[in-house]
Amino acid sequence: MTNTDLERAQTLITSIPDYPQPGVNFRDISPLIADGPALRAVTEALIAPFEGQFDIVGGLEARGFLFAGTIAAMTGVGILPIRKAGKLPRPAAAVSYSLEYGTATIEGPDVLKKGERVLLVDDILATGGTLSAAQALVRELGAEVVGSAVVLELKDLRGRSLTGDVHTVFAD
Ligand code: AMP
Repeated sequence: MTNTDLERAQTLITSIPDYPQPGVNFRDISPLIADGPALRAVTEALIAPFEGQFDIVGGLEARGFLFAGTIAAMTGVGILPIRKAGKLPRPAAAVSYSLEYGTATIEGPDVLKKGERVLLVDDILATGGTLSAAQALVRELGAEVVGSAVVLELKDLRGRSLTGDVHTVFAD
């Protein structure tokens, strides 16, 4: 990884105003993941504080899956897919959390061994609802969260009040 690749990666995250609804500033990571060296630099930066400390990487649907895939390939660990409700044939646990309007539920499969060390990963930390639900889900599945990592934290939304410490590659 070079610093230039990581610096370029940040510039490749594109802000799309008023998507998917008025008032939301959507951060599109598509240009970042389309750039190989930038993708590798971000993946290395996500892993760095947790090197050798996790047995499996938990990716949050959907864009967290992408980084879970690159982290797994680079480190040789497997992947825990953390899915939106109704997608898994045999969910082993489910956790619901609040959205601005209503609630959402995430589910996980029965693949973790007791005490297994999980690194959670997603693209964006916004209000923290999704990531904190994923942390609870992993514990419900009998495993340990050794860390949570995101590509970009939207600081104004104070997601850490729900998630606790999160390793962030970029902050806005
Ligand atoms: P939250 O639960 O509010 O922290 O939202 C995090 C999840 O929603 C992540 O999986 C993100 O992919 C997505 N998300 C939230 N806000 C944004 C945003 N402004 N741009 C892109 N994705 C977002």
